[in-house]
Amino acid sequence: MRIDAVSIFPDYLDALDLSLIGRARREGIIDLRVHDLRAHTHDRHRTVDDTPYGGGAGMVMTPQPWQEALTAVLGSASEDTGPAPLLVVPGPGGAPFTQAMAHELAARPWLAFACGRYEGIDERVYEWAAERMEVRVVSLGDYVLNGGEVAVLAMVEAIGRLLPGVVGNAGSLVEESHEGGLLEYPVYTKPAVWDDRAVPEVLLGGNHAAIAAWRHEQRLARTAARRPDLLAGAATLTGTDGVEALH
Ligand code: SAM
Repeated sequence: MRIDAVSIFPDYLDALDLSLIGRARREGIIDLRVHDLRAHTHDRHRTVDDTPYGGGAGMVMTPQPWQEALTAVLGSASEDTGPAPLLVVPGPGGAPFTQAMAHELAARPWLAFACGRYEGIDERVYEWAAERMEVRVVSLGDYVLNGGEVAVLAMVEAIGRLLPGVVGNAGSLVEESHEGGLLEYPVYTKPAVWDDRAVPEVLLGGNHAAIAAWRHEQRLARTAARRPDLLAGAATLTGTDGVEALH
């Protein structure tokens, strides 16, 4: 998968050199290219922002560097990527980023991320870009960050780990929270007793059916306690995570 990210703080995305995503980059599973927006400025101060029309606090990112940066990204299309990326613009006013969206984006051959700063990017950039590629504004959650970089770190990690070969044991992806509608059950490792606290007996007996039933009960209980809003969604599913299990 090819991923481009444009930012005025390209170093912010250095963390994507680490751990599983870093290894996936080295193995060629993810071709991640980070671009400095200021490379597309032409004044001495490398300016990327200006005061907002209509007044108000803060600064707005100017359109010209974005046009140049995104044109350069588009110009790097290849046979593998197709003609244009899906442009994801992180923003608190976007569609919520979810596990379902991570799956959808992981199936795309080419994603580009435009990291806003200040009060955001001049609205005409969205219009210009939408004439050339699919554009989605995506929110990490209902709060305001200083810039899109943290959102890109989170989204690239969530998307990247779904690509074949990135997570060593693909089975570990299946039972996770938000896969199938419920949160994950509690997990334990050695020692069997720690600080006078014992691991639940059922997990030590090797009875796989009993373990599966216990884990399913735990998923339901944990979801009801922490995220009751998810149970309505889970009730529309069928099978062990679905409506049958809720009754
Ligand atoms: N004035 C904007 C508003 O109220 O919608 C917020 C701008 S915010 C200070 C600066 C940048 O941070 C945004 O352009 C976006 O790139 C990023 N950002 C802030 N909150 C975000 C969120 N919840 N999800 C994704 N990106 C976010």
